[in-house]
Amino acid sequence: MRIDIITLFPEMMETVLNESIIGRAQKKGVLEIQCHQLREFAFDKHRHVDDAPYGGGKGMLMMTEPIALCYEDICKNLDEKPYFVYMSPQGSVLNQQKLIDISANHKNICVLCGHYEGVDQRVIDELVDEEISIGDYVLTGGELPALVFVDALARMEKGVLSEDECFTKESHYDGLLEYPQYTRPQVWRDREVPQVLLSGHHENVDKWRREQSIIATAKKRPDMLSKAQLTEAELELANSIIANKTED
Ligand code: SAM
Repeated sequence: MRIDIITLFPEMMETVLNESIIGRAQKKGVLEIQCHQLREFAFDKHRHVDDAPYGGGKGMLMMTEPIALCYEDICKNLDEKPYFVYMSPQGSVLNQQKLIDISANHKNICVLCGHYEGVDQRVIDELVDEEISIGDYVLTGGELPALVFVDALARMEKGVLSEDECFTKESHYDGLLEYPQYTRPQVWRDREVPQVLLSGHHENVDKWRREQSIIATAKKRPDMLSKAQLTEAELELANSIIANKTED
């Protein structure tokens, strides 16, 4: 997977993206991430990329042409047009299913980070494939949202994590939250690790984990259950947890 990011703050992005798992994946060559300084595509000597909005109002808007020139420059080096995502509080809210779909369907992704009041609408209309939000609140710029999006997308790319199970068994992948996990010591401040996890009986461990996943989801995120694939018995378990919670 190759990801190109258009930003006013490439150093800020690289500091994060060159660390830890995503940084190692780039060094191994399973992932390529390039950050592009939008100001390099400005055409005045002060490298302006923003201007006042027509109709008045506070703040500045990012202009069309530097973004278009930067995007076209990125496309020149790729065999196929990248999927162009604009990080925006007006976009559809990011979730695991959207990430699964994007990672399955696109090898090249270009991410535009807005700033100030955002970008001229004509860029969105002309070039952008999808606007994506990381939640119903507004940040000062698209860099943090882009880091969230890129990290969550990149970790599903083959070879980034040691095995696919590292992300398919986690919260949200199959519509449920993950089961509780424990590590050494076996007893900590009188709290013991559940016996089943010490039994070495894999079938029982899997059964316990599935149940705990359903219990955690019913307690913390009952709204997710309507989309999860549950057997009748599992649905009954979830409903009993919700009913107990309501009584409490
Ligand atoms: N004027 C815009 C509005 O009201 O919709 C908000 C602009 S915001 C201050 C500046 C930039 O931050 C946006 O262009 C976008 O790239 C980014 N941004 C802010 N909040 C975001 C969110 N929740 N998700 C994704 N990007 C966001």
